[in-house]
Amino acid sequence: MPLTRKRILITGGAGFLGSHLCQRLLDEGNDILCVDNYFTGRKDNIAQLLGHQNFEAFRHDVTFPLYVEVDEIYNLACPASPIHYQFDPVQTTKTSVIGAINMLGLAKRIGAKILQSSTSEVYGDPTVHPQTEAYRGNVNPLGPRACYDEGKRCAETLFFDYHRQHKVRIKVARIFNTYGPRMHPNDGRVVSNFIVQALKGEDITLYGDGGQTRAFCYVDDLVDGLIRLMGTGADFTGPINIGNPHEIPVRELAERVIALTNSPSKIVHRPLPQDDPMQRCPDITLARQVLGWEPTVPLDEGLRRTIAYFEGLLAGDA
Ligand code: NAD
Ligand code: UDP
Repeated sequence: MPLTRKRILITGGAGFLGSHLCQRLLDEGNDILCVDNYFTGRKDNIAQLLGHQNFEAFRHDVTFPLYVEVDEIYNLACPASPIHYQFDPVQTTKTSVIGAINMLGLAKRIGAKILQSSTSEVYGDPTVHPQTEAYRGNVNPLGPRACYDEGKRCAETLFFDYHRQHKVRIKVARIFNTYGPRMHPNDGRVVSNFIVQALKGEDITLYGDGGQTRAFCYVDDLVDGLIRLMGTGADFTGPINIGNPHEIPVRELAERVIALTNSPSKIVHRPLPQDDPMQRCPDITLARQVLGWEPTVPLDEGLRRTIAYFEGLLAGDA
């Protein structure tokens, strides 16, 4: 049990990242309140936590006000996969913007510290590489990704205005591509897509020529970074990049997944989606300095663990 047990609200707690965060903070002896509308999250993700006396989950949409008493808030509620956030783009913007207003209003009323899960998408299709927190981004405000990118940018603005105007204690994390067990098998993100396709022996759908780059962070590392950020002193707000700086072309990810799964799958090319960023890699100098943090799980090891998870999931479906 920690020296001081905290009451912690996690919005989006039944999602991929949220469920890992719930688990970790519960293991550290805290009281966890998990709030989710189950748009992309699943009860299965938190099933193992439900019997725990310090864990409570309830269905709630963050676009509506919430009245609870907690010490800290991790605001993760928002679909993260392009397919899911583009499914109902108006709701995506509402979730980011109205959700931020509601959670910041809650933090203000009860004096809680609040962390925002922002994203590397605030940098859009970046012209600065790797991306530092000082870079202001290159976002198309009219395109199909804008509901997510601009929603997250506006949420950051709200966080800093509540901080300046109302002295709310804020932490803003800019999360880069993260993967691991409990990703939704059909959420369309590249790691889950490639692994599921490889395990089923289906074609691996590479968008464009696969020369676009990403840098993939294993979920345990990411969760560790978020918790360290929440623990920083009152004068540190972020924004701060949290991600793995090991950058690879998406084509190479496909090849690695095929090799690690020993799959007969072949790579097939599909059109590159509009506004798909051509390169992305975090500069994590600030995270190293302020959080003493950097990722520890190499890509192949993280992929092996994720493959094992999806093997179990697909075996259960069979
Ligand atoms: P996810 O889709 O698995 O989880 C999001 C969760 O939020 C789901 O459980 C969903 O049901 C819930 N949710 C959505 N709208 C809601 C609403 N209106 N009210 C209440 N709950 C709602 O995605 P994830 O990968 O776990 O992402 C979590 C957070 O981290 C998101 O805010 C996302 O923008 C951010 N992020 C993730 C990544 C990544 O690579 N995973 C990268 C950058 C940022
Ligand atoms: N991608 C791909 N095949 C897929 C899914 C995604 O080639 O089946 C590519 C996508 O075009 C992008 C990268 O993989 O360049 C990462 O996509 P993802 O949706 O995971 O996240 P993004 O970083 O684009 O938000």
